[in-house]
Amino acid sequence: MDQLHKFLFEGLPVRGMLVRLDASWRDLLQRRRSASDGGHAFAAPVRALLGEMAAASVLMQASLKFNGALILQMQGDGPVKLAVAETLPDLSFRATAKVVGEVRADAQLEAMLNLHGQGRCAITLDPLDRLPGQQPYQGVVPLHGDRREPLQQLSEVLEHYMLQSEQLDTVMVLAADDQVAAGLLIQRLPVTGENNLAGSREANQNNEDEIGLNEHYNRIAILARSLKREELLTLDVDTLLRRLFWEEQVLRFEPFAGDTAPRFACSCSRERVSRMIRSLGVEEADSIIAERGSIEVGCDFCGQQYHFDPVDAAQIFTAPQVQPPVGPVVH
Ligand SMILES: [Zn+2]
Repeated sequence: MDQLHKFLFEGLPVRGMLVRLDASWRDLLQRRRSASDGGHAFAAPVRALLGEMAAASVLMQASLKFNGALILQMQGDGPVKLAVAETLPDLSFRATAKVVGEVRADAQLEAMLNLHGQGRCAITLDPLDRLPGQQPYQGVVPLHGDRREPLQQLSEVLEHYMLQSEQLDTVMVLAADDQVAAGLLIQRLPVTGENNLAGSREANQNNEDEIGLNEHYNRIAILARSLKREELLTLDVDTLLRRLFWEEQVLRFEPFAGDTAPRFACSCSRERVSRMIRSLGVEEADSIIAERGSIEVGCDFCGQQYHFDPVDAAQIFTAPQVQPPVGPVVH
């Protein structure tokens, strides 16, 4: 069952989330396999990367509560040129990748995306109510650590992003296979109110409080990091939380399951594809028609095929232009 769980640690400024994508994740993989454009299944490490990215994008969307699309993009200089996962505020997600060349069965992040040290991770927040001319917000982090050491885990890259761009101390554990894509997120809640800078007793007290709260966060972070990928993939939520945090007071919220669960959904449409063809220009469209008799466009995310015969194509350029609806861009 696809599900997202949110929880708090009683009395501590620490929150957690656990996502488990199963039917929706298998749906996504199945569509990729059966895409009629001859789309081949991704190599296992790419499937695992996409699963982790899907789980992470759901966790980050739920954590940032952003009213728009959260788009996680890995831009690589190895065989994986681009990997994308996008989650909307209703927790619907989609993901795809562009791979050129072979990905070895044991490839990690570096071998897939960062062969020459140029790989990067971009997180875009694209508001649903974006005003004309307004740019989406984008943060970019490299795929190496502070000492230029290449990172091998997506979770490390995203923890870096959350700290740098959102000022949020975060622990993420991610794992995916062909059945399940799952993730655990632990986050220190931002402290509200400012310390008194006058050096009063109150300020000292606040500092001591803060050190104490740090210790709590650090303890919970260490527990979270002890979670093994195998456990994350196979244990049910109750067992997992009990095993990890059995000494902590965990307060759980009503899970996002059933109608509110994360789910696979694609926002592609014939209208959007029409706009894309229009942006190619009439000459380019005509030359495709002359060569192939029609224009065929397949969605990389869901495998949907869009067919435009010469009459459809002509209409794209003669019909009055409709204003594009706001929302995430189809890549
Ligand atoms: Zn689609």
